[in-house]
Amino acid sequence: MKITRVETINFSRMHEPERQWITAVYRTVKADCSIVRILTDDGLTGIGEASAYGWPVKIAEWVDWLAPDLVGKDVNDASIVPHPNGTSRAHDAAVAGIDTALWDLRGQAAGRRVCELIADEPLDRVRVYASGGCRYDWRRRPEQLIEEALEYIDAGYTAMKFRIGTTWEWDGVTVDRFLGLVRELVSEVDGRLELMLDGNCRLTEEQALAIAREIDRLGFAWFEEPCPARDIDAYARLSAAVDMPISGGESLTTLEQFRPYLERHAYGIVQQDAGLCGISETMRIAETAARYGVDVCPHSWHNGAMAMANAHVVAALPNPRVLEVCMHQGPLQWGIIADPPRVDGGHLILPQNPGLGIELHPEAQARFPYIEGHYAIQVER
Ligand SMILES: [Mg+2]
Repeated sequence: MKITRVETINFSRMHEPERQWITAVYRTVKADCSIVRILTDDGLTGIGEASAYGWPVKIAEWVDWLAPDLVGKDVNDASIVPHPNGTSRAHDAAVAGIDTALWDLRGQAAGRRVCELIADEPLDRVRVYASGGCRYDWRRRPEQLIEEALEYIDAGYTAMKFRIGTTWEWDGVTVDRFLGLVRELVSEVDGRLELMLDGNCRLTEEQALAIAREIDRLGFAWFEEPCPARDIDAYARLSAAVDMPISGGESLTTLEQFRPYLERHAYGIVQQDAGLCGISETMRIAETAARYGVDVCPHSWHNGAMAMANAHVVAALPNPRVLEVCMHQGPLQWGIIADPPRVDGGHLILPQNPGLGIELHPEAQARFPYIEGHYAIQVER
């Protein structure tokens, strides 16, 4: 089966004002999606979502640049798979889209699901967590965080991750005030949701340690990216100080980048993203992490095709834990997929179809035409 064409389709949808979300100083005003599509001479089409962030146009340019090396080649030829380089995230996202689309095609050609190509006995369903808590504003209604958590419980989720809110300096927020909201959340949730916290690299080590000790005591599943991502020593010290895993790695795209974090026991959980480094590199990182006793809980933001790539990864991991599903992406998220998978009882049911098991919705391009411009605006207060 030979590749005849490699292309990128970008989609967008503006958020309604009430659905915009704010964290740190950024208000997110639209949802983007970049899909790499690979067509073949026997009529099969593979898709892979590349992590769009602010680079849908750059991703399309990188895909166009890489395409001539793919066209005319056999989809099962391992030598054609491009590799992430760890230096350009738009390049690596483009590679991730291509790599994922090739896995999709190989699965379709073999009549097997992607997770079955990776592991002998993959899961049929993966536990998901509601990844949200990006709407609460310390100046307006921080208790919105608790209302959001209760909505996830009503919707059947069993786990939730939240962030640390708008910029603390704007409103004199302290660790004590933040932990007050956390304790209120824990009390309202009352054991019905497993909780994770994402610091988005915004805390000092001193703040992070105080928070880590308290949320460890409160039974949190992990504390993600508390400090600036390159401060490996701080991560190592935090990991040594608490029993709960300190997690990170969502912006890393190669195994080599993970090496110092693994060697210095900086992460208890690693969070590479198939949408940013591809399924192949994700599994390579997972195999090495397993040697260090470190599990993978992939980062997975953006849309349904990326969630499916990461779902197949989780289903095939040696110690599968949870799949992240973004709760703030709006109708674009699953609207690009013709027959989205079911999420039931806090689990995503993997489709039985071969490959990734999904197809683009035939009206996706008409419904969600790409809108130029960055997805977030910076707020001044
Ligand atoms: Mg994160």
